[in-house]
Amino acid sequence: MEKVVIIGSGCAGYTAAIYTARANLNPLLITGEMPGGLLTTTSIVENFPGFPEGIDGYELMTRMQKQAERFGTRLKFGSTVESVDLSGKTFKLSVDGETVEAQTVIIATGAGHRHLGLKSEDLLEKKGVTYCATCDGALPMFRNQPLVVVGGGDSACEEAMYLTRFGSVVYLIHRRDSLRASKIMADRTLANPKIKPVWDSVVTEVLDVKQDKVTGVQIKNLKTNAESTLDCAGVFVAIGHIPNSQLFKGVIDMDENGYILRKEGSMTNVPGVFVAGDCSDHVYRQAITAAGMGCAAAIDAERYLAGLSQ
Ligand code: NAP
Repeated sequence: MEKVVIIGSGCAGYTAAIYTARANLNPLLITGEMPGGLLTTTSIVENFPGFPEGIDGYELMTRMQKQAERFGTRLKFGSTVESVDLSGKTFKLSVDGETVEAQTVIIATGAGHRHLGLKSEDLLEKKGVTYCATCDGALPMFRNQPLVVVGGGDSACEEAMYLTRFGSVVYLIHRRDSLRASKIMADRTLANPKIKPVWDSVVTEVLDVKQDKVTGVQIKNLKTNAESTLDCAGVFVAIGHIPNSQLFKGVIDMDENGYILRKEGSMTNVPGVFVAGDCSDHVYRQAITAAGMGCAAAIDAERYLAGLSQ
């Protein structure tokens, strides 16, 4: 019987592992198919405290993994949880066809960026297509260049505002003629002289796959069906996130978008099941906040286990 099983190997999962391992709880961490999580897909992380020159996302996650292992975390590398039974006192997880039993579970499964669904978008990822302005906006390739943000929600507005620090102009391409974002955010965005809204339009292609880097986008006006192109060096897709919470549907309480709800501290509606990171957070979504939530979940799990043995 495991004392703690952590599902997910992003900042939240590895931080929970470091803390529970140092509390002698001998955690088992199931990494998922993409060990290290979303951050491994980012080139350089410049906003994680302690790395004044920045650190490669993959390198940062490898260091977190080593730190977790150093204190005794056991990893099921590349494994995924296929199903969960959280109905009894002992939780049962099906992993690689085997059943793992646990007294506590920390869910740190993260979230994925919603994609436009274009082949050219996938081919040009990290070559100008990105899903995180905070992570990538300051890269030299985007400085003093025209940039595109896709989306009309708070995230898209935030990304566009942030990118005005770097780009020569920021085109905000939205499929309707009004923003979904909160009024204050929308007003602020539209008042920014460096942001040029492109209404009623969708990106139909990212250019230029042949050159192996983003040089522009092809767009279509949904009202007139007119097609045109816009030159740009970067495409920041901000059309929402999809929390990786499907595994827990019907068992763990979540909001209408699938974000797992915290009831008491980091504990979910199921006592003994805790949550941390982007699968529970649609507001901050930063490596450092996910790490903080992982720490909180580990401390909550430790206290819960101490309560069980009293
Ligand atoms: P969101 O509110 O769901 O907005 C997603 C946007 O992307 C919408 O404008 C949507 O268009 C558009 N979109 C969706 N699928 C698309 C597609 N396939 N092609 C083109 N456009 C598409 O997502 P979000 O902006 O990430 O925000 C998520 C939640 O976090 C919201 O509750 C938001 O308020 C919150 N948030 C808050 C803050 C803040 O308060 N500082 C910052 C960021 C996020 P439609 O409008 O036509 O549906």
